[in-house]
Amino acid sequence: MYQTKKKVAMASQYIYKQGLAPGKSSNLSIRKDDIVAITPTLTSLRDVESESVVLVRVDGEIISEGLSPSSELELHLLIYQERSDVQGIVHTHSPYATGFALAGEKINLLEGFGPVNKSHLKMVDYAHPGSSKLAQLVRDSVRKEDVLIMESHGVLAVGSSIDEAVLLADWVEKTAKTLFVARALKK
Ligand SMILES: [Zn+2]
Repeated sequence: MYQTKKKVAMASQYIYKQGLAPGKSSNLSIRKDDIVAITPTLTSLRDVESESVVLVRVDGEIISEGLSPSSELELHLLIYQERSDVQGIVHTHSPYATGFALAGEKINLLEGFGPVNKSHLKMVDYAHPGSSKLAQLVRDSVRKEDVLIMESHGVLAVGSSIDEAVLLADWVEKTAKTLFVARALKK
């Protein structure tokens, strides 16, 4: 599992450098077979190393000793249980997209999301971060969506690999930024 843990660490540091994960916010995971490698709780993604990545079985049994997994572990596990095609999950508090989420403003879809069959990204009703309620709301919505905006909270992106999920999370943030600029400049 060393390579998988290494990938989690590299993706974490990349996301931090991209400005998508301020402070100690945000988390991500990779599934390999029936094991999930997830970022630790209370740790900035800037500081995640292979050694600090926590291994958990998809059914919830924690394998690693030492650091505790992200407080959103249940959310990650329910998504993997729901979507056999998903191998990577990214949750961020990226500033522009989270600003839209806090304001309850929907993010319109721009080009780049593949087939566009709806006008905006789906927003999941607010539930307390780290709660089972939030995990269940996301599980119910992620059946048909690769990106979800969590109301008053942040962004969730899933993919067939962690790289795909990271690209989606980045795209959501840049889309929100573009929309914000467009709205600010509109006369
Ligand atoms: Zn969060």
